[in-house]
Amino acid sequence: MESVNIAADDGPGAESPPDFRHVKSWIFDLDNTLYRADNGIFAQIEARMTDYVMAFLKLPRAAAYARQKVLYRQYGTTLNGLMREHGAAPDDYLHYVHDIDLSDLSPDTSLTAALENLPGRRFVFTNGCRDHAARILGRLGMAHLFDAVWDIRTMAFQPKPQMGAYQSVVAAAGLTCKQAAMFDDIPGNLAPARALGMTTVWLKSDSAWGKHGPVMDVAPGDIGHQTDDLTQFLHSIRI
Ligand SMILES: [Mg+2]
Repeated sequence: MESVNIAADDGPGAESPPDFRHVKSWIFDLDNTLYRADNGIFAQIEARMTDYVMAFLKLPRAAAYARQKVLYRQYGTTLNGLMREHGAAPDDYLHYVHDIDLSDLSPDTSLTAALENLPGRRFVFTNGCRDHAARILGRLGMAHLFDAVWDIRTMAFQPKPQMGAYQSVVAAAGLTCKQAAMFDDIPGNLAPARALGMTTVWLKSDSAWGKHGPVMDVAPGDIGHQTDDLTQFLHSIRI
């Protein structure tokens, strides 16, 4: 990730506040962007993915885990790989892997207040599924803030960072890309957004989870802003 450390850190210490006055559509990734998933939620989902791959492909655990990682790197999501190479049914898989304990997750009132303050429409754009997103947003106390949740079904199972994912949601919501900002913890997911003309914000994380996925191309211009604190960042920008 060294190659993406190119934008100045924005926030209260920055010389002038980042200017977001042109933004009318606010697009947020879910996991590790609107909440910290690397504190246990990813681990639960990943363990259930391995359970699913074990049962579905009739493999022992270590082999199932290895297969899962190969599919993830090659197809962008484990599900996409299971569907394309093994004919898995998406509903079955999505329901199974997201059946997790969210009791550690509690309302985030300061982020909720910062989101509420943003002028325009707000969206969630996740490679996960909308039932999972609804449960998470419910726990965070944010469900009412979003005009729509775009999930892997909205994208016809072509996950971010495939350009088709972005084009389908832009069309569905009638977005003007130059008036949209996208926030994501995976820098490679910002490149197509930037190519379409969106303002991009990278939620920096030192988590190892982001390194499991496909290798992605990120050019210096793809990351418009970066921060490790979304709430503070949203309070710092000009809107
Ligand atoms: Mg994420």
